[in-house]
Amino acid sequence: MKITPNDDQAYDHAVEHIRGRLGSRFAMYVNGQRWLGAGEEISHESPVDNSVVVSYFPKGTREDAKAAIEAAREAWDGWSKKGYRDRAKILRKAADLLIERRYVLSAWMSWEVGKNRAESLAEVNEAAELIRYYCDQMEKNKGFTRPMEPPGPNQETFTLQRPYGVWAVIGPWNFPLALTTGMTSGALVAGNSVVFKPSSESSVIGFELTQAYADAGVPPGVFNLVTGPGATVGAELQENPKVDGLIFTGSKAVGLRLYHDFAKDYPKPVITEMGGKNPAIVTSKANIGEAAEGIVRAAFGFGGQKCSACSRVYVEKPVKEKFMTALADYTKRLALVGNPVRKETFLGPLINQGAVDTYLQATDEARGDGVIITGGNRIKSGEFERGYFVEPAIVDNLPLTHRLFKDELFVPFVVVGTVGSLREALREANDSEYGLCAGIYSHDKGEVAEFFDNVQAGVTYVNRRAGATTGAWPGVNSFGGWKGSGSSGKSGLGPYYVQQFMHEQSRWIVKK
Ligand code: NAD
Repeated sequence: MKITPNDDQAYDHAVEHIRGRLGSRFAMYVNGQRWLGAGEEISHESPVDNSVVVSYFPKGTREDAKAAIEAAREAWDGWSKKGYRDRAKILRKAADLLIERRYVLSAWMSWEVGKNRAESLAEVNEAAELIRYYCDQMEKNKGFTRPMEPPGPNQETFTLQRPYGVWAVIGPWNFPLALTTGMTSGALVAGNSVVFKPSSESSVIGFELTQAYADAGVPPGVFNLVTGPGATVGAELQENPKVDGLIFTGSKAVGLRLYHDFAKDYPKPVITEMGGKNPAIVTSKANIGEAAEGIVRAAFGFGGQKCSACSRVYVEKPVKEKFMTALADYTKRLALVGNPVRKETFLGPLINQGAVDTYLQATDEARGDGVIITGGNRIKSGEFERGYFVEPAIVDNLPLTHRLFKDELFVPFVVVGTVGSLREALREANDSEYGLCAGIYSHDKGEVAEFFDNVQAGVTYVNRRAGATTGAWPGVNSFGGWKGSGSSGKSGLGPYYVQQFMHEQSRWIVKK
């Protein structure tokens, strides 16, 4: 996405505007009304400067989640009978509102989760495009209604997809707008009502999305926002029998628990999009500059806090030395750490102290068991004093079986291993509980074909300088995981997504 001087000016203005709103008190949203709950609050501090409170939200309880589920149940019938064309019209208006509000939204994102300017602005555009793409899918497929072969004279049969009812949507903080917009708009355009629980790290963005739906004309009760902990609000969404389907994006630990526990009395759809430990392979036939730049962008973009982040690299021995020099060089040139609101910043802070601890633990282990090529420290001086800033880290010489090649860390930390062949690289790449993204750098057609035929990942990339394993766009490339990275086998951003929010009804009519 190209950022123009006008975008820069408007974003800078929005950052200042938001500065004046930091520390505001927000509400939940149930049945078209502000909803305050029992009175307890959760505060969220900015990862850029933890002395700054970004927001106070009600700490929702099971009772609040129940009220939202009841409202969604009541509103569902009217919304589902509205017809997909009318629903799409309202949702397209919400997409327009997101674009109209993109500077304010992206400035909030920078303050709330520390995402840099370019990536925040791009995320708002992606969110709007997701709504439009899912509306397109409903319209192009005429609401997924199809005539079937007539069974005989004076008879007709057809099949159609119908919404399930109430969907619970549970979102992560790292793509606080795009992913939650994708999940919620997919459910809504298909004719379901929604109870949405954002992450407590990114509730303002969840609130702003709710506002956009309401302002666009989504009727009361059709979209509800409940904020609060997974252990209470999340648990009610999982256990309440009036919830018909659940979609979750977040960690494998939580997603797998929801997957196992959601459908108790009878089968109900549960879609879980989970973590990744995404490999890139660099063969002797690679363009090394292309590989190094793509891997730096994918490993350190948003501080490695993307499910798609590249966190392990397998390099063929003959090009290893040249590759390591290029990797360190591109890291120095590209991965500039700083306040995410500044134009030149590539790498903002990590989300919280827990993430810094994960990073420091990993770098300690890497020092003991391998070699840190660059990075490895927290940055605490000057303007970084009260933020969660760390250096991008590159690690070499670990055994390929080391846990740092296996565990998702979600910090700017990439491990590099040496392999003797593409076959060995693929074996190592696939030796993972995850199967989200994978990339290869090779200009040999046979090698690329071998990669495609054998790699176990839902999203794949070849020779991509803009990101070895990252980057997706609605309608351009779909995004979803295999194995421990995703449960449905269908990807977001793609042509098979919206159907997941509906079940099929086959109709046979005998005419007079
Ligand atoms: P998380 O699993 O900690 O939390 C995700 C959401 O689940 C939050 O809203 C949280 O409050 C809620 N939650 C936590 N415990 C719960 C419970 N017991 N019941 C119900 N809900 C509960 O994940 P996170 O830290 O917000 O996000 C980072 C993770 O998300 C990483 O693993 C990343 O790879 C993954 N992710 C995956 C994708 C994808 O498309 N596959 C995209 C983005 C992020």
